[in-house]
Amino acid sequence: MKTPRKLHIKSYGCQMNVYDAQRMVDTLAREGFVETARAEDADLVILNTCHIREKASEKVYSELGRMRLAKEEAARDGREMRIAVAGCVAQAEGEEIIHRAPAVDIVVGPQSYHHLPQLLARAERDGKAIETEFPTEDKFTFLAEPKPAAIRARGVSAFVTVQEGCDKFCTFCVVPYTRGAEVSRPVEKIVDDVKRLADNGVRELTLIGQNVNAYHGEGPDGRSWALGKLLHRLADVPGIARLRYSTSHPRDVDDSLISAHRDLPAVMPFVHLPVQSGSDRILAAMNRKHTVREYHDAIERFRKARQDIAFSSDFIVGFPGESKQDFAATLALVTQIGYAAAYSFKYSPRPGTPAAEMQETVSAADMDERLVRLQELIDSQQSAFNRAAIGTTVDVLFERAARNPGQIVGRTAYLQPAHVMASPDIIGEILPVKIKSLERYSLLGELASPEFSRGTAPAASSVSIGA
Ligand code: SF4
Repeated sequence: MKTPRKLHIKSYGCQMNVYDAQRMVDTLAREGFVETARAEDADLVILNTCHIREKASEKVYSELGRMRLAKEEAARDGREMRIAVAGCVAQAEGEEIIHRAPAVDIVVGPQSYHHLPQLLARAERDGKAIETEFPTEDKFTFLAEPKPAAIRARGVSAFVTVQEGCDKFCTFCVVPYTRGAEVSRPVEKIVDDVKRLADNGVRELTLIGQNVNAYHGEGPDGRSWALGKLLHRLADVPGIARLRYSTSHPRDVDDSLISAHRDLPAVMPFVHLPVQSGSDRILAAMNRKHTVREYHDAIERFRKARQDIAFSSDFIVGFPGESKQDFAATLALVTQIGYAAAYSFKYSPRPGTPAAEMQETVSAADMDERLVRLQELIDSQQSAFNRAAIGTTVDVLFERAARNPGQIVGRTAYLQPAHVMASPDIIGEILPVKIKSLERYSLLGELASPEFSRGTAPAASSVSIGA
């Protein structure tokens, strides 16, 4: 029997990249690759890169420096290691990667990773292989062939890509350039994937896309289905108990999505709805295509549909032209909405985007100060939201054993980690948990259905978080 080749993937950034990395593993598994946790042991190392965060490409080049040393070490041991760069940095930088890091063998954009086996063969034959075009065939269709289909369950919670790319062209964002125009998968293909995942024990799905609520896939009736209609269809798949989706754009919140939240208990009452700024002037400069008022209106529509709904968001501070008043408007918006969580970043230009041509007006010191103030406000809201769970009983989907012996960890509807002392038999179950205390961002509690408990749970305050 042929010895399996070893594959190591390091993935950066968003959920879409996590999903893509899993599909790369599935694609290469057909070629006899097995995953290894140690890059040094691998025959193929893939860095699945992200271009969103600050200095993304510099971080990739410094990681490639480490990988070059591992490749040289492997060569001294008589082994051949190949290095591939995938994802959005690969798309943005293309051939430049091989010029700057000659140890790289393969550069593959996010639309082409299903060609990895061919690219690997090409690199073995010709030394290097680069593919960063947007191919005309459907990557998702390609990945589903031949049987067994590519998507594999990895636990009780899974991501499924339903939409990719974006046509919004926010001025700070590289996605429309690195991921291309919006494409939605047909409903039946998604349903097939979801049924397969459910058959393999998946209980919770997160539908992902760069602009997921712009979803407009072809339905079985030949018409274009919106995300809300897709959620209705997926809620009918036996075994699927929880549905989430990410990332949404405020402008694409339509009636079908609101009705999915109102009518489907499986659709979780936690929505990530990035706003980026609380100032209309800055939203216009960012080309976000909505106003602060329209964002509030979208939030209100969700709240009317489901009173227990909570929100998270993304913020950029220090966008070119952001004045003190603009930043104050962002703080005011956060105060008015009240978030359960949010991500905030200092603005940094992405080459090739319109904002990169704008004059930067906010000093580094002011950006630091604004970020601290915003994060303090968000942290206080998140802590208050988490503290409010103490004393209540909430449903938790249990995912895995925690590091602390005897502890099992799961997630609430709001993605808060919740720890209990219990038998591992509860993994995959959704059970009510009485929340006793909070440690950092994790809830500690005990099962409200004691038949699943293992022994006596220690006092919550004495249990430390091990996951
Ligand atoms: S909507 Fe999101 S993905 Fe699309 S351009 Fe704007 S920030 Fe980027």
